[in-house]
Amino acid sequence: MNFDFDKTEKTLRDKINGLFDPDSKAALANLENGDIDEVREATLNCSKILGQAGYMALGLDDGKNGASLTATQESLAVVSPSLFLSVEVSARVFGRLVAVYGTPDQEEKILLPMKEGLLIGTVAISEGGMNIENDPLDTAGVSSDDGFRVSGSKGHVVNGPIADWIAVAGKVGDEIGFFLIKKDSEGMSIGQRLTTLGYNGVTISAVTLENCHVPSTYIIGPFEGEEQLKTVRRWEDQALTAASLGQIQRSFDTALNYAKNHKSGGKPIIAYQEVGFKLAEMLTLLQTAQLLAYRAAWMADTGDREAAVLAHCAKVFCTESSEKVASYALQILGGQGYISGNPAEEGYRESKYLQIAGTSSEISRMKIADNVLMSQ
Ligand SMILES: Cc1cc2nc3c(=O)[nH]c(=O)nc-3n(C[C@H](O)[C@H](O)[C@H](O)COP(=O)(O)OP(=O)(O)OC[C@H]3O[C@@H](n4cnc5c(N)ncnc54)[C@H](O)[C@@H]3O)c2cc1C
Repeated sequence: MNFDFDKTEKTLRDKINGLFDPDSKAALANLENGDIDEVREATLNCSKILGQAGYMALGLDDGKNGASLTATQESLAVVSPSLFLSVEVSARVFGRLVAVYGTPDQEEKILLPMKEGLLIGTVAISEGGMNIENDPLDTAGVSSDDGFRVSGSKGHVVNGPIADWIAVAGKVGDEIGFFLIKKDSEGMSIGQRLTTLGYNGVTISAVTLENCHVPSTYIIGPFEGEEQLKTVRRWEDQALTAASLGQIQRSFDTALNYAKNHKSGGKPIIAYQEVGFKLAEMLTLLQTAQLLAYRAAWMADTGDREAAVLAHCAKVFCTESSEKVASYALQILGGQGYISGNPAEEGYRESKYLQIAGTSSEISRMKIADNVLMSQ
């Protein structure tokens, strides 16, 4: 097996950090303090830069993950976790939904500008008491006026306050479709921006629909069964796994730098074995998480029977490792680590989202266990 990336893959991966000019970097650093308009502007500016570099379109035309996509995503997640989450929900989840299941007209009107970073999208699936595994959707559309009237409510939607388009999952009779709803559509209200433990540069809100009219040309599906819903969740899981790799790298880099430069008892703290052992453990987790995530992404493209279970293993391991590595990093930074605003402390908070969102650690483990039982 060849574990190396080819030259084009390496070039894109290496250039992500250098893509952003000082103004964009300053806007990124300020995402957490910005109001909604400022966050939208900074997200769009960076999306345009990423669009020109070809990043936004990765994995959209062929629908494939690939180890190289994961490694490139990891590079962006190192630069800015919040920008990463916002861009990935827009491109790799919303964008893929339109690319893989949408009509040519939807592609032209929505996907093309999204690939250039000119618009922001999101997908609203989860509801109060529903998850894909064990409860039906309450949101539903009924036929009316050459389209549908959609009603329902979604509790948490990444990019909700800044999105140009929201793909809302809902029932159509016994089938499931995604209603593509433009911002400011009558009948759709976006809730207040929610305050969250981490990813504070991402805008998140509830979305409520009350008899919202969606033309028949703006539905994806409807489909029998839940396969498409589950596919969207797999894309989300893949992006969250890549987010973890970026988090681990950020925490490790921060701790290593601090351990080399911060002195205690007259010597850099890296000289103390207890600190060195923590760094060794962090690097081991980073290397292992990368291998597992890349392999899971590579296997997803082979259609192998084990691909789905490996993706769950990767999400559990990588997202939980990101919490462990952030915790070690925070400890190495000592009092400095406990002060808000350093990558270790941010990673510690953000890792909880990675374990809850998409397929949660608990549900992932159940799926892994089910697969083990079935294969015996
Ligand atoms: C900040 C934020 C942003 C989000 N953005 C979006 C978005 O953009 N779009 C979107 O659609 N959703 C979004 N979500 C929703 C997110 O996907 C869900 O929160 C997540 O899937 C978990 O569902 P839940 O909150 O309903 O928890 P529940 O499903 O109620 O689970 C609660 C607990 O019970 C466990 N549990 C539940 N069912 C089982 C089971 N069958 N077996 C074992 N354990 C189980 C869970 O693992 C968890 O620990 C967001 C959530 C947050 C917090």
